[in-house]
This record gives sequence, structure tokens and C-alpha cells, in this order.
Amino acid sequence: MIIHCTAFIKSSTSIKQCPAPLKPEFGFIGRSNVGKSSLINMLTARNKLAKTSGTPGKTRTINHFVINDSWYLADLPGYGYAKVPLKMRNAWIEAVEEYILKRRNLVSLFVLIDSRLTPQNSDLEFMEFLGKKQIPFARVFTKSDKIAKDAAEKVVYEYDIEMLKSWESLPVTFITSAKKGTGRDELLSYIEESINNFSNPI
Ligand code: GDP
Repeated sequence: MIIHCTAFIKSSTSIKQCPAPLKPEFGFIGRSNVGKSSLINMLTARNKLAKTSGTPGKTRTINHFVINDSWYLADLPGYGYAKVPLKMRNAWIEAVEEYILKRRNLVSLFVLIDSRLTPQNSDLEFMEFLGKKQIPFARVFTKSDKIAKDAAEKVVYEYDIEMLKSWESLPVTFITSAKKGTGRDELLSYIEESINNFSNPI
């Protein structure tokens, strides 16, 4: 897929405020500092579409962008904000959960995982939740340029082992680097294919 145009639409704090669900949508989510903004900017080839955050947990809203006038990209607040008061954390979690469970045009979520870290409980628990709720998602391992190729593959393998304890099959998986552009073509092709399947169900 070639990205011709991208535009910011709006920031929402609840599903009610989100744009009308009239285009297929892909959500990006992960723990703060996982490289979400960098990945979104790399995918859309825009330097500042999503603001990279120096402060973990800064993105508190659901930010919608329209890509090529044909699909929505939703930049979702991260989970695992250690530094945020519990009460506020719960409000975000509720808003994101409601979005995930009720957003009718959501085709797939991209769950971003830091490829440098051994399997993290918060990531595993979040994917477990998605599985139980039958929410389609793909795993996106980020920052792969920071480690050797086989080290990234080892982390993916470790996640596979953990997830196969409760899953029969594994989700679609991408290994990416925002710095080097790794995985960009694969991710955009996957989005394109998913849009085609979504709007033309057999
Ligand atoms: P977010 O909080 O998930 O949106 O994460 P950011 O996109 O703001 O990235 C967090 C930090 O990781 C920043 O310092 C980025 O420059 C860095 N970063 C993000 N993606 C990559 C990557 O693919 N490679 C490298 N080397 N650094 C990255």
C-alpha cells in the first residue's frame, strides 16, 4: 500500500467521542515507551503524525487519523502506566476496554511489544484478554534494530512458548524497526489485505 495522504481527525476520551465508524479501523496499542508513536510515524511516512513522548504515559486519549481517505488509524493510550495514580489509570483502562469491545469498525489491533525484553506479564495478560474476547489482533515486535536478528527471534519464540500454553494457534507477527523501516511493507500489506477481507466478506 502506498500512503498518499494522512490527516489527524480528533482526540477522544471515550468511544462516544470517536469518529463515526464508517471506515475500517486499525488500533495501535502497547505499553508506554514501546515505540508506538515512532512506528505510526514510520508506517505513515510522517515525522510528526503521532507525537513521540519523552514522558511515559503521556498519550491519554484515543487519537484518530485517516489514511488515504480510506481507513482509520487509532493511536490508543498505552497500558502499564506505573507512574499514574490508580484512579486515573482505571478511567483510561475503562475507556480503552470499551473501545476495544465495542468499536464496530475495528478490523484489528496491533499489540506492540518491545523486542528487547523477555515476555512481560502485562503484554501476555493483555493478549489473553483479547483472545478471551475474540478481538482480532497481531503482534508487532518493536525496536528490532537495537538487538541482533536472532535475539529478536528468540524473544518472539519465548512469547510463542508462553502463549501456546493457553492458545491453539499464534497471532500474525511482525518484527519491526521504526529506525530502519523494517516490517513496514509487511504491515501495510497486511492492513490492505485485511481491509479487502473486511469490506468484502465472503
Ligand atoms: P511510545 O511512548 O510508545 O509512543 O514510544 P516512542 O515512539 O515515543 O519511542 C520511545 C523511545 O524509543 C524514543 O526514544 C524513540 O526514539 C525510541 N524508539 C522507538 N522506536 C525505535 C526503533 O525502532 N529503534 C530505535 N533504535 N529506537 C526506537
